[in-house]
Amino acid sequence: MNTISYVFGDNLYLNITNRCTMACPYCIKHKWANKFNGDNLKLEREPSVKEVIESIDDPKKYKEVIFCGYGDALIRIWEVKEIAKWIKERGGKVRINTAGLANAYHAKNILPELKGLVDVISVSLNGSNPEEHNKINNPMFKEKSFDEIVKFASEAKKYMPDVVITAVEFTGFDASKVKEVADKLGVRFRSRPYLDDER
Ligand code: SF4
Repeated sequence: MNTISYVFGDNLYLNITNRCTMACPYCIKHKWANKFNGDNLKLEREPSVKEVIESIDDPKKYKEVIFCGYGDALIRIWEVKEIAKWIKERGGKVRINTAGLANAYHAKNILPELKGLVDVISVSLNGSNPEEHNKINNPMFKEKSFDEIVKFASEAKKYMPDVVITAVEFTGFDASKVKEVADKLGVRFRSRPYLDDER
């Protein structure tokens, strides 16, 4: 089994699936052959809840325990709930990094199920309109995806104390337009540097 959890900075990251709702051509998993900072994040099979929990040890040791690997953890919503519950019961802080298409993927609103289990949800939005978003990210629901993600971030405010929209600073892409979307929704915005180097 390759890496299920890995430490980066003060945080622990959980890599529970390689499945994703987008096929971003810029995804660093292609560029770095599924490696990150010396770990191989390519999963031969998806880990069980027990295997993920065993890989965490003490969640209080970390600033945050973050669902974020080379895939979108919310595809495995049932497992995310079980693992997040275990972390919260032990005093840990939970963040989910997501592409924001989980409601469309599951064809239901999964956000109420995460109430009380998630401290921060970070929704990636690389595009400030449906056409641009579809072109940049190659999402599963094509041009419908942008509105789905905006709706998801807005709905998340009802169930999570902290909702953040993030955008990657690509050359030629105006992340400040995404900030305008976040401002309109009344959620935090954070721009992220484009990672050139695996370390
Ligand atoms: S959403 Fe993230 S993990 Fe999924 S393909 Fe895009 S960059 Fe990769």
